Amino acid sequence: MVSDLFQALWDFLFPAHCPLCHKYVKNKGDWCETCLRQVCQPTRLPVPAPMQPVAGSAWALCLYRGGMRDLLRRLKYRRQQSALPYIHRLLAAADADKGIAALLAWSEVAVPVPLHASRERLRGFNQSEQIFAVWLQVHGVPMVRALQRVKATLPMYELTPEQRRENLKGAFAVCAAASLAGKHVLLVDDILTTGATLGACAREIKRAGAAEVRVLVLASDHRC
Ligand SMILES: [Zn+2]
Repeated sequence: MVSDLFQALWDFLFPAHCPLCHKYVKNKGDWCETCLRQVCQPTRLPVPAPMQPVAGSAWALCLYRGGMRDLLRRLKYRRQQSALPYIHRLLAAADADKGIAALLAWSEVAVPVPLHASRERLRGFNQSEQIFAVWLQVHGVPMVRALQRVKATLPMYELTPEQRRENLKGAFAVCAAASLAGKHVLLVDDILTTGATLGACAREIKRAGAAEVRVLVLASDHRC
């Protein structure tokens, strides 16, 4: 009773709104139709050079700009779990895309790009798992933490391609090879930028005996 009243008061003070244009919407986590259509644009990307030839294909659910950049920053750097329902709603909207539906049907197991244990302790969670786990479960794709980040790497954004390769050398190791052998593996991450990290992960998964690796990210800054 008290909690119902509190909820009613809370909803009155903070009504649900679209994360982009702030228009009122029915439920928390909803987008307005216009913004959802604008942001959710599942795309098959050209496979970036660092991911070749180990990744069979690469897909992004939206472009990394504007509203999506803010939501991801809220989740990753300000640890605001309140950003998650919006992201989950966006994933659900991607179900209607034929390419994504085929990718999910193809996938036998999903592997998130891991954080180094010290970073995960600091943040309290792995954002790629939080973004994708429930949605993949709904589609019958189990998520396995088959990769470990065994080396604390430097932030990539200021490094040259050469330094990136060096930085990632020996950074990842497979810890659940049995779950990958002979499988169609979907490698998932929040953002695709240069593809260096995803390429290093895909390489380890292939080395562990996976039949094929495809990559799915929430957002990509590629223009296609
Ligand atoms: Zn909107």
